[in-house]
Amino acid sequence: MTAITRAQLETLLNLQEIEIQKKAVQSILDAVAEKIAALDKELSAFTKTIEKEKQALSALQEQYRELEEQVHVNTALIGKIEEKRRSVKTNREYQSLLKEEEQLRARKSQIEDEMLECMSEMETLGQKISAQEEEHRQLDDQVTSDKKAVTLEASESETRFADLTREVKAVEADLTPELFKAFVNVKKMCPDGKALAPARNSICMGCHMNIPPQTYNELQRFDSLKLCPFCNRILYWDNA
Ligand SMILES: [Zn+2]
Repeated sequence: MTAITRAQLETLLNLQEIEIQKKAVQSILDAVAEKIAALDKELSAFTKTIEKEKQALSALQEQYRELEEQVHVNTALIGKIEEKRRSVKTNREYQSLLKEEEQLRARKSQIEDEMLECMSEMETLGQKISAQEEEHRQLDDQVTSDKKAVTLEASESETRFADLTREVKAVEADLTPELFKAFVNVKKMCPDGKALAPARNSICMGCHMNIPPQTYNELQRFDSLKLCPFCNRILYWDNA
């Protein structure tokens, strides 16, 4: 039988209250960590999007340079044919060169159209990237200031958590190790942290079952620790 005094029961109730507050503060701290992680994730996803657009732009620039090179080659070939044409002997040869030149000119004009198209795509993409970079800067500023706010919130909660932890230690000193152990064991089974249940009019307020009359009578004497036979919570007499 674990002995308990009325004062120790008050201490246990106090301890339970502090533990519940600690749990609430801990959930604030967890939420802060989650918020910061979500902000970082959003920013990093956006950074990746812009990175991809920049890669696409560089591919277009490369394509443009290749087309430009093709135009140079083409222009040189046309120049050579023009020269040849001036020195040919037969009309047949002349016609053949003329035909070749026409084909080269057609190809050149096709490449130049592709270059225009490519240039227009680069311009559109370039503008898109500039707009996204501006948006990214704004988001970055927003994230920085949001982080500051949540970090401040966290630091207040951390202080509160440390205070509550000290309070637990102070309160624990009033309990016997046996009582404290009993409290901790019961608490493990109670997800809401409420290891103590008031007994009113012979009913356990934790599970609303009828407490055996002998247990209920003994409770009023505050001499030993009593657990509810149904929910195992620590019972205390409460005639309020
Ligand atoms: Zn109960």
